Amino acid sequence: MERTLSIVKPDGVKKNVIGEVIKRFEANGLRPVAMKMMHLSKKDAEGFYAVHSERPFFNDLTDFMSSGPCLVMALEGPDAIKKNRELMGATNPAEADAGTIRADFADSIDNNVVHGSDAPETAAIEISYFFNAMEVCDRV
Ligand code: ADP
Ligand code: MG
Repeated sequence: MERTLSIVKPDGVKKNVIGEVIKRFEANGLRPVAMKMMHLSKKDAEGFYAVHSERPFFNDLTDFMSSGPCLVMALEGPDAIKKNRELMGATNPAEADAGTIRADFADSIDNNVVHGSDAPETAAIEISYFFNAMEVCDRV
C-alpha cells in the first residue's frame, strides 16, 4: 500500500472533470483517503512548488495554480505513486499516451489538469502540506 498526493488543478475544476478523474482513480485501485476543495493563494502555490522555484515557468505555474479552486486529494493503493502518474499521462499532453487524463482533458503543458507526486518522499511532504493526520482517513 502506498499514498500519493493528487490535485485536480484549476483548469480541471473549470472543465467539470472532477468526477471523471476520481472515477478513473477508483476504477484503477486508487482510493481517496483525504479530499478538500481549496483556492490556493500565490504563496500557497509557491510553497507547494518550491522545488521548481528556479525554473523559468515558476511564476506562470504559481499564477495558474492560484487562479481558481483546486481539488486536493490523498490517494491510497498498491504502487499508488506510479499508478497515478500512469493514469495522468506525460506532463505535456501532446506527449501523453491515449486514454490518459492529460491526453483526454488537458490543453497544454501549462494547463494540464492534474498533479501527482513523483516519489515516496515528495508524496509524504505534499500530503502533509495540505492535510493534518486527522484529515487522512484509513480505508477499511
Ligand atoms: P508533473 O506535473 O508531470 O510532475 P513537473 O513536476 O515537471 O511535472 O512540473 C510541474 C508542473 O509545472 C507541470 O505539471 C506543468 O504544469 C508545469 N511545467 C512543467 N514543465 C513546464 C514547461 N516546460 N513549461 C511550462 N510549464 C511547465
Ligand atoms: Mg512533478
